[in-house]
Amino acid sequence: MQKLLKDVFGFDSFRPIQKEAINRILKREDVLVVLPTGGGKSLIYQLPSLMMDGTTIVISPLIALMQDQVTSLRLNGINAQMLSSSQTNEQNSLVLNSLLNGELKFLYVAPERFNDFFIATLQRVKINFIVIDEAHCVSEWGHEFRDDYRRLKYLKEWFRGVNIAAFTATATKETENDILETLKIDKRALLRVPTKRDNLIIRCQKRVGDAKDQIVSFLNIHKDECGIIYCFTRKETEKLSEYLNSKGFNSASYHAGLTPDVRDEIFDDFKNERVKIIVATIAFGMGIDKSNIRFVLHTSLPKTIESYFQEIGRAGRDDLKSDTLLLYSKSDEISKRTLIDDLPETKYKENMYKKLESMYRFAVSSKCRHKMIAEYFGDEVETCESRCDNCIDEDRELIDITIESQKFLS
Ligand code: ADP
Ligand code: MG
Ligand code: ZN
Repeated sequence: MQKLLKDVFGFDSFRPIQKEAINRILKREDVLVVLPTGGGKSLIYQLPSLMMDGTTIVISPLIALMQDQVTSLRLNGINAQMLSSSQTNEQNSLVLNSLLNGELKFLYVAPERFNDFFIATLQRVKINFIVIDEAHCVSEWGHEFRDDYRRLKYLKEWFRGVNIAAFTATATKETENDILETLKIDKRALLRVPTKRDNLIIRCQKRVGDAKDQIVSFLNIHKDECGIIYCFTRKETEKLSEYLNSKGFNSASYHAGLTPDVRDEIFDDFKNERVKIIVATIAFGMGIDKSNIRFVLHTSLPKTIESYFQEIGRAGRDDLKSDTLLLYSKSDEISKRTLIDDLPETKYKENMYKKLESMYRFAVSSKCRHKMIAEYFGDEVETCESRCDNCIDEDRELIDITIESQKFLS
């Protein structure tokens, strides 16, 4: 294991949970790994697969995520392929051929691929184990339930004796239990690290007017650093980015309405720091692997604490101190609520209302932010003392002074 870690992946040591999870996979046990974004979940299924002689099936919700993983494995000389609607039928049947010939180490697929034909094909293949990435999508208690993930409850029937390795970054106790039950995995399969990020400063402020002063004073404490600003709508990202550039900041807007080419280009500019600040909708995030993001600013209330924690978690993956600020107002809760109103009547919809309420209560609360997040996910941590606005009162003064000095300077 140690040799593969070094030779194939180039790392000297395992991160928390990685070794234990890999050992369980090698012992042919099921696992459900709950590990925050950036914790290194891919390695947990990739490394043991290299020690087995069949094919590992990886179920992933997004073509972009699959593409990234396939590309990086192939660069390492490992035969990984995907089946997806972004490829031609010919490409997909070539992949199926290699699969049946036992040539593939990894096959990435979307959950909707599991039709009778595909299941029958897989039943003829030597499978190492089946990976479910973003496993919270299986659960109506999760924050991103997907109908096509629900069918994965039959995996154990379709593939008898084949183990499952499920992964998610964020899950409450209810979500965890539901994932285990749905996938028919034993409770003992659960492996998780406490939901906390000690290197993040967490602050929330009531939004004042159009928030421009608050945003600019926050950015002024982060001159020349890389960061992400999350906005609610595409239009807001464009308007804010334009405004910031007129004030001498180096930003670009990013959202799902841009063509893939443009999005790739902006992403590349950000990665190479030709652009310092990305002003984005939540379309920007999944699969970003930039370690030195120093701040994340939300200009309005996120839908759930799960997504909020994932979004702020994109800062400080290098474990250096990083800053986050959430600007909120009561009207955000109302506008997000109308989005949920449009969902069909399900358990998931009910849960989404509750999650939004928890998010708003978090923002207005005066308790330690780190403690509240941990408690939401069912973990116990000490109050942070110095890493959230509610634990340091001076913090508010700091912001006020910055706003004042900003006004003075301009
Ligand atoms: P996740 O899926 O949990 O968000 P990834 O699997 O994408 O995280 O890994 C995040 C980053 O951490 C990647 O750049 C990966 O190469 C790196 N990484 C994973 N394991 C280790 C390790 N043991 N030592 C150092 N870096 C690691
Ligand atoms: Mg991942
Ligand atoms: Zn605190």
